[in-house]
Amino acid sequence: METDFRVHALASGSSGNCTLVRANGANLLIDAGLSARAIESHCRRLGVAIDSLDAILLTHEHSDHIQGAATLARRAKAPIISNSATLNALRERSTADFPMQILPTGDTFTLGGATIRSFPVPHNAAEPVGWVIDSGQGRVAYATDVGSVTDNLREAIRGAHLVVIEANHDIKWLWKGSYSPQMKAQVASPVGHLSNEECAELLAERMAEGTAATVWLAHLSRENNAPALAKRTVEERLAKQPCAPHCVEVALRDQPSVSWRYGAQAFQMSLL
Ligand SMILES: [Zn+2]
Ligand SMILES: [Zn+2]
Repeated sequence: METDFRVHALASGSSGNCTLVRANGANLLIDAGLSARAIESHCRRLGVAIDSLDAILLTHEHSDHIQGAATLARRAKAPIISNSATLNALRERSTADFPMQILPTGDTFTLGGATIRSFPVPHNAAEPVGWVIDSGQGRVAYATDVGSVTDNLREAIRGAHLVVIEANHDIKWLWKGSYSPQMKAQVASPVGHLSNEECAELLAERMAEGTAATVWLAHLSRENNAPALAKRTVEERLAKQPCAPHCVEVALRDQPSVSWRYGAQAFQMSLL
């Protein structure tokens, strides 16, 4: 059977992160960092009623990733799924109970015929993770809030048809910008956020290998980045070498933006 596998970016950045994934009739969110009301309305516009939500996967407990999570989980009677360190941190921040399911980092579960697993990422949170969702035919890898590139991250994006990856800041803009010296050091640290340049290097490695991919640059900083700059940095780096067919898009900060459907993407062939 042909897989029906779609992903929609609802918001991506420090004022809120939420991605809707639809895999063969199952509906799940990766992070729920907007108000429950905003997420409900975005989902409804995409034809997904909130009571048909099956799970909320969390990357980590920072507020831009969890804001509406507990309320939505209660309303949809859908579990929040993450490792126990993240769930404990979330429980400390929530006033009421919510349905949840512990998934140790690196473990796998299945939903709607899709296999879902988390992998560790370096970030200043309790036990931050990225996610890989495999529908049997298509694979999506999701990693934002990653301070540095690790083998786990390389491995996660290797065969993915959709790579959602952080391009948080331009390193020069960060150092010249208005953040305090302490903030700048925190963002640039190996447990902070991934720069456009680091993201571009990682993608150059990935695209040197076989599988075609759509890339979404995600979690862009409002202060220290711009969509066109992030895209240009990555595309210029990729243009320096032979690459698998690919297209690079930007997930916008504060509104639903890009959508992906397995098998429906047209790729521009690399000219090298
Ligand atoms: Zn974040
Ligand atoms: Zn974070």
